[in-house]
Amino acid sequence: MNSRNTAQAVASLAFVLAVAVGGFFYPLAGFAVALVMAVAVAMTLFRPRSFCAKACPRGRALGFALKPFSRGRPLPAGSVTPGAKRALCGFMMFCVIGNVARLAGSGAALGRFFWGLCVISLAAGVVAGLLYRPRAWCAVCPMGTLQDTIGQAIGKRR
Ligand code: SF4
Repeated sequence: MNSRNTAQAVASLAFVLAVAVGGFFYPLAGFAVALVMAVAVAMTLFRPRSFCAKACPRGRALGFALKPFSRGRPLPAGSVTPGAKRALCGFMMFCVIGNVARLAGSGAALGRFFWGLCVISLAAGVVAGLLYRPRAWCAVCPMGTLQDTIGQAIGKRR
């Protein structure tokens, strides 16, 4: 990893930790998660998965921070099916849309929801990254599946 990549990885890790820890004390920090999700969708409209390749702080942070500790094993064959990925993505979107509608009047409550989404998925990512490869979470990540879905929909229209 060259110095530029290292600097990007350190900045990503700092961002992820700042939101995960800071959001506990300042719920509005959770909106950083909503912003990242919006950026992922926007980038995908131009180039599918470009967010994963170039901008995702979560993916970079997991890859960087867990590398020394991860068992580095592949996920078991067949453990992540397309149907399971779509179901997880659909569940996430259901939660996001439902809570945005429900909590729209309270910035703190909505920020807390996005913060919770961040912490739960980050915890899952850390466990998966330790047991398997550092970025094992990317195999099931709902934002990755959402980008693929949008990219396929755009590809069919062109
Ligand atoms: S799959 Fe998810 S966690 Fe991995 S790089 Fe893409 S958006 Fe980030």
